[in-house]
Amino acid sequence: MNRIGNFIRSLFLWELLVGMSLTGRNLFAPKITVRYPEERTPQSPRFRGLHALRRYANGEERCIACKLCEAVCPALAITIESEQREDGTRRTTRYEIDMFKCIYCGFCEDSCPVDSIVETRIFEYHFENRPEQILGKQQLLAIGDKYEAMIAQDKALDAPYR
Ligand code: SF4
Ligand code: SF4
Repeated sequence: MNRIGNFIRSLFLWELLVGMSLTGRNLFAPKITVRYPEERTPQSPRFRGLHALRRYANGEERCIACKLCEAVCPALAITIESEQREDGTRRTTRYEIDMFKCIYCGFCEDSCPVDSIVETRIFEYHFENRPEQILGKQQLLAIGDKYEAMIAQDKALDAPYR
């Protein structure tokens, strides 16, 4: 009986008709495709994208070279070297993040006691050659300088969840 049913269905191209009816139903339905980059979907302030190192308002870098972010990073993407300055404070002499290793987990940001390393909501960036994907201290500070207003705003919005 099943074989007869299959034969009749194949004779009348039943599967094709089912597929065409599905196409027909969706032909005039409202489109959900987003025409990026002209159109954007809403983005959470907690989105984890490009990293940045922040400064205090007086221009002093926040990072105190405690290396917690390096220790907590599950991808071993962060490399830090540090030394003591003449005023007795400790600062990094090398701070690098390998963006190809990073899995954007946010642990570095969560572990930082001075809100220095952060993940911005920036996701439109690319690298064309190795080793461009390794962002150094000055690059990360420059990103922080450029987007500080946005970072501070997102941090304030995110505060209730911390
Ligand atoms: S987001 Fe996660 S994987 Fe990326 S550098 Fe920070 S701790 Fe490492
Ligand atoms: S970025 Fe934060 S967690 Fe990482 S070394 Fe600097 S102060 Fe420590």
